[in-house]
Amino acid sequence: MIAQEEQILQTYFGYETFRPGQKQTIDNVIQGANTLSVMPTGGGKSLCYQIPGLTLDGTAIIISPLISLMKDQVDALQSLGVHATYINSSLSGREQQIRLDDMTAGRYKFVYVAPERFESPIFINALKQVSLSLIAFDEAHCISQWGHDFRPSYRSIVPNLQKLPNLPVIMALTATATGEVISDICALLQIGNDRVVNTGFERENLAFHIVKGKDKSTYVRSFLAEHTGESGIIYTATRKQTDSLYDLLSKRGISVAKYHAGLSEEERKQAQAAFIHDETTVMIATNAFGMGIDKSNVRFVIHYAMPMTIESYYQEAGRAGRDGEHSDCILLFSPQDIQLQKFLIEQSLMDDVAKQGEYRKLQAMINYCHTHSCLTSFILDYFNDNPTGGNTCGRCSNCLHRQERVDLTEEAQMILSCVKRMGERFGVGMTAKVLKGSRDRKIADFGLDKISTYGLLSAYTEKELTEWIHFLTAEQLLATEEGKFPTLKLNRNSVEVLKGERTVWMYTAPIPTHGEADYKEDLFAALRKRRKEMADERNVPPYVLFSDATLKELSRYFPE
Ligand code: ADP
Ligand code: MG
Repeated sequence: MIAQEEQILQTYFGYETFRPGQKQTIDNVIQGANTLSVMPTGGGKSLCYQIPGLTLDGTAIIISPLISLMKDQVDALQSLGVHATYINSSLSGREQQIRLDDMTAGRYKFVYVAPERFESPIFINALKQVSLSLIAFDEAHCISQWGHDFRPSYRSIVPNLQKLPNLPVIMALTATATGEVISDICALLQIGNDRVVNTGFERENLAFHIVKGKDKSTYVRSFLAEHTGESGIIYTATRKQTDSLYDLLSKRGISVAKYHAGLSEEERKQAQAAFIHDETTVMIATNAFGMGIDKSNVRFVIHYAMPMTIESYYQEAGRAGRDGEHSDCILLFSPQDIQLQKFLIEQSLMDDVAKQGEYRKLQAMINYCHTHSCLTSFILDYFNDNPTGGNTCGRCSNCLHRQERVDLTEEAQMILSCVKRMGERFGVGMTAKVLKGSRDRKIADFGLDKISTYGLLSAYTEKELTEWIHFLTAEQLLATEEGKFPTLKLNRNSVEVLKGERTVWMYTAPIPTHGEADYKEDLFAALRKRRKEMADERNVPPYVLFSDATLKELSRYFPE
């Protein structure tokens, strides 16, 4: 005999077997235990509340921040013959009242609402009169201020719930939750540690790529030319960028739609519908687009600029490949992206503590763009979801372009010693300038043109030096203290490098799938030339920058 849940899965939904995590979540809920499920996008979280909602007596309340998604889910349930509805601001006041009365009369198995609904005393009063089967918080990361999409209205539901005499079992579901977010959700919703179902969230069909040093619009045009007819999303950082890229591509006859908060609701609806129904193949949008979009055949997601956090990056990129087919997630990085994100943090209304948190997340995002390790592993590590650690996925741009590497130890030693000699009080930009030997007024103002590492790497461009410093940070060979002006600091790994106990390998600069490897060639040539010059200039190995005594002293800061 098969369990009731399995039967519902097969007869109602027409699926043979549960996906990872689904059964455990459903069992927890049916047993009456509050539960948090962390599953990847497309992992099948909706079924986790739909099956218990069908099994248990009473009405299930599904709270979702995504009004656009409610109607689709309700339509799908209704087509299965299930009594379901949604109550939100897209309905007339009269229609809302009718549905509320029906809910009070117990006519629905499922009612979808937005978090704001809980601010209405009328709604709370109605809820008190209903026999409830469960309350589900979809996109539950929005409840936590550590989450990437914090919504105060979501959090303020909690005290209102406590007013309910008929409080049922509670579920939380999300695709992105760091340790902090998980503990926050559990504490708020009284979910026991043993009731967290976490399937991890590696998406084995996604290949991540970082593309640097390319003209972005040229890159996008050649990418689209090679992927005609494939459905994809291009995320830009601003509405203006969306508009101009849209103009550029549509002028060239490419089938594009655009979406951002500055467009009318009608325009957005149309753009979205055209994209979902494959009438247009490419959607150009700000991050206003996509939450709750269930389009299975998105073959690529291109980020035209670096987003603010890895959480939002992974969620947006994760809209590719929900059908399980191979899909590409490409991030087009340029150094200006960092400035833009800092500006956005400064402009925001967050308090200083919250800003500090954002800077910390931004730093991780910057590191992602500069690491030479496996990008998939980097992301999983970020979410503490890499049990085997240090793995290589074999699909990302770093894994694919790993054939050649260059020993950057000497240069790294110079950079690290420069950081130390600058008193560990400055950021990437100033450090690059000092190593370059820049004549910038600020350098002289701080007396940095007098230190021994001034101009030590003058054969390179400031851009290259900046890139290397970011790289060292990304590989954790150098630390940063985040803030509006993040400062560079040494860490234990830095000392190992300085003492010559550790080799710094830099892999072939990640090469875009389109374009030539000119940067790497330049790099090798420049390295050889500079090393030769330095050997001619002085008769000492250029990297012996600290005496043994100093190195010993440094080691003491970072005991084993
Ligand atoms: P999530 O909310 O986790 O991103 P959804 O609940 O929207 O994912 O489900 C994604 C897709 O997977 C949907 O099309 C859904 O019907 C399908 N799905 C869910 N569970 C199963 C299953 N056990 N077997 C096959 N397909 C499933
Ligand atoms: Mg979902």
